[in-house]
Amino acid sequence: MTIALYPGSFDPVTYGHLDIATRTSKVFDEVVMGVFDTPSKNILFTTEERVALIEKAIEGIPNIRVEAYTKMTVDFARRINAKVMIRGLRMSPDFEREFEMALMNKKQAPEVEVLCMMTSVQYQFLSSSLMKEAAKYGGYIEDLVPEHVATALRQKLSI
Ligand code: ADP
Repeated sequence: MTIALYPGSFDPVTYGHLDIATRTSKVFDEVVMGVFDTPSKNILFTTEERVALIEKAIEGIPNIRVEAYTKMTVDFARRINAKVMIRGLRMSPDFEREFEMALMNKKQAPEVEVLCMMTSVQYQFLSSSLMKEAAKYGGYIEDLVPEHVATALRQKLSI
């Protein structure tokens, strides 16, 4: 059984993330969406909230589950016995950052392969941070996140 770890901040989860997770679930036996609890960037949702939003979004998909983790991603990969780590790729800035991170991860855990999956064209310009900016000013986010995520965002931003 091959387990793939799909790690990220997921603050909050978007259709771009879910597209990568579901496509990955068709290739590997199990996908674990790993929610990193202390990213260096500013975070809007707590770890528990980010996990709960993903849980609801993946309801009914039997081979995707979600788990929060702390410290190094490669250690979490080892703990859950993941042979593969999945990252999503959008434009070239993603590539440079992901390349750098993949090499560092490989140094730490040579047995874990990092695979990058290309985004679907409709999510090419979608990032949690830009989407949060749009939401903050009452922008249209309906096509970008599931309904329950849009509701949680509006509550959090009091709009
Ligand atoms: P991180 O803080 O680890 O970059 P994110 O939650 O922003 O976490 O993203 C997690 C992963 O999902 C990253 O590999 C990122 O490149 C990818 N990703 C984010 N948005 C999209 C998208 N619209 N399409 C494809 N991949 C995406």
